Amino acid sequence: MPSEFELIDRYFRRPALREDVLLGIGDDAALVQPPAGSELALSVDTLLEGVHFPAATGPVAIGHKALAVNLSDLGAMGADPAWATLALSLPQPDEAWLEGFCTGWFALAQSHRVELIGGDTTRGPLGITVQVVGTVPQGQALRRSGARPGDRIYVTGTLGDAAVALEALSGRLPLGEPGERACRRRLEFPEPRIGAGVALRGLGTAAIDISDGLLADLGHLLQASGVGARVELEDLPLSATVAGLVRDGRIDPALPLQGGDDYELLFTVPEQAEAELRRRWRTQRCRLSRIGRIESQTGLRLYRHGIPQAVPPRGGYEHFRD
Ligand code: ADP
Ligand code: MG
Repeated sequence: MPSEFELIDRYFRRPALREDVLLGIGDDAALVQPPAGSELALSVDTLLEGVHFPAATGPVAIGHKALAVNLSDLGAMGADPAWATLALSLPQPDEAWLEGFCTGWFALAQSHRVELIGGDTTRGPLGITVQVVGTVPQGQALRRSGARPGDRIYVTGTLGDAAVALEALSGRLPLGEPGERACRRRLEFPEPRIGAGVALRGLGTAAIDISDGLLADLGHLLQASGVGARVELEDLPLSATVAGLVRDGRIDPALPLQGGDDYELLFTVPEQAEAELRRRWRTQRCRLSRIGRIESQTGLRLYRHGIPQAVPPRGGYEHFRD
């Protein structure tokens, strides 16, 4: 059986990726050189088997997702990801699992130039804690608290695909190909919206990533900003699969609002910045949809083709709820 240190050497110590890493894996702590004039954005997230991913999830998806959900938080701050640390708890030193995990992790890490600079490896129930650090030019980070009345509300990508995949995986929603594969890809291999976040610097007034469902995360943004919003339900971006399921009455039309794991960005821009937003978006590959506007009256108001709609319960996962 390989020792802890053999595992670290075999799987996690990789050729250097960035010149700003002065000291990577192997010492008591890593040393990095942040660029002058920048602020550091730090975020940490834990993924536990059975809580954050179904026990049947493959290791490649786990490796990807563990990093992706953390990078998504940096994207929502407008930060450029740079470094990551990984605390891994494994029931046994399963090398096939580690091989798969590293395939998922390092493919995503390389595409965003994120260097793994340290971590911790322990024996225990399967759990992964990832800390990411990114940089953002001084004063340009996107906070949740800057939305102002009149601002337009935008969302990237499409909503509800991951929630549909979870329904399909649980057997509650027989889906069939190719819709099931597409939704499952969104659940297992979310694409962190890093480019989108960087494009919003100096333009967005507030931003958050949608991890607990649009209703919950828009609620956080509104609360932090001390404002309310009006959202047009017909403008919510849905994939062909999710739109078809809604049309055929096979899923609750509220699912794309409530389901978690979208990892899209939700953000606000002043009305007069919309033209610049569209201009900047020409080089972004993800879809961009305007879904509503910020209002001074607190609370959320939903409309469909101009007709007021009841606001469904938020949904989203709350760890300490019974
Ligand atoms: P220490 O006892 O000083 O905490 P460890 O024995 O935990 O050090 O780890 C040895 C080195 O390997 C450290 O540099 C640590 O950051 C790194 N390391 C341990 N586990 C991982 C991991 N899962 N991923 C990346 N680096 C790791
Ligand atoms: Mg340690």
